[in-house]
Amino acid sequence: MTAYDDSNIFARILRGEIPCERLYEDEFALAFPDIRPQAPRHVLVIPKGKYVSITDFGAKATAEEITGFFRAVSLVAEKVGVAGSGYRMIANAGPDSRQEVPHFHVHILGGRNLGTLLVTP
Ligand code: 5GP
Repeated sequence: MTAYDDSNIFARILRGEIPCERLYEDEFALAFPDIRPQAPRHVLVIPKGKYVSITDFGAKATAEEITGFFRAVSLVAEKVGVAGSGYRMIANAGPDSRQEVPHFHVHILGGRNLGTLLVTP
């Protein structure tokens, strides 16, 4: 796995070098809208720690970080109004997934019926 790169765009957002609308923030996570939304609600949730992908996060994060992060994901889904109607949570990891930003993040997509396809044919 590639080493964490401090210059990635989400690291810069975490450091406040690039603005974002901070929808939710606590000691473990930050949530903000995706700049290119693919659903009426499209929010990114990122951990505060330096992890390249969910593979890296699952392998190296502490139990407290993992619990805190996924509690934040649940809170964000409530806060942006999709917990009741439903949503899809996606985490891309590595080249075949076309992960663009090498700082672990999950996408929360909702606000409409998302259909059954998980991948582009
Ligand atoms: P990935 O393909 O890595 O899972 O998704 C990265 C996501 O980050 C993309 O959906 C892209 O639109 C979003 N993104 C890339 N740069 C920025 C940015 O500067 N600000 C925000 N809010 N989202 C970004």
